[in-house]
Amino acid sequence: MKSLDEYLRDAEQAHGHLCAGQVLGVRLAMLGLAKLGIDDPRGKDRKRLVTFVEIDRCATDAVALVTGCRLGKRALKFRDWGKVAATFVDLTNGKAIRIAAKESSKALARQMHPELENKNQQQMLAYREMSDDDLFATQWVKVELPAEEFPGYKGERIVCEACGEGINFRREVRREGKVLCRACVGERYYEPL
Ligand SMILES: [Zn+2]
Ligand SMILES: [Zn+2]
Repeated sequence: MKSLDEYLRDAEQAHGHLCAGQVLGVRLAMLGLAKLGIDDPRGKDRKRLVTFVEIDRCATDAVALVTGCRLGKRALKFRDWGKVAATFVDLTNGKAIRIAAKESSKALARQMHPELENKNQQQMLAYREMSDDDLFATQWVKVELPAEEFPGYKGERIVCEACGEGINFRREVRREGKVLCRACVGERYYEPL
């Protein structure tokens, strides 16, 4: 694993700027990996980890950077819950830890650096210095990860009987004897014009 400073430099490059969210995300991911004993997530341990993220903000980019888990590799799973939290699952033994940023860390950052007026500056500095315990709540958890969730899963591709589009990874829905995609059962996020 790299150092916090090295990861922050990489994060700044990848994300386009350095912000409090990046610091939080880098530290969150570093803590997750340390708890699982994964020290080379982009090298020898590169197929060992699946990460669930619960927000699509700055911190998420940093988590992806440190863990090497990416959406396109199916190693990064997104649950849109609006929380600065992530769960790291070790595929070799099923151990999983969920780590969430503490709400109190913002107030603590204010206390630590009252001399800085800009909130982002204040948090950026404080989140580097704060202890893991002040910054995060951690919890060992169990994550049900069926075969089709694994990065290397090769499954059958099925065609939706209503729209004719192909569906991978068992995302089809069976309803009244029909095989349908999630859009056609009414879960669509768009309306055809
Ligand atoms: Zn940012
Ligand atoms: Zn369909």
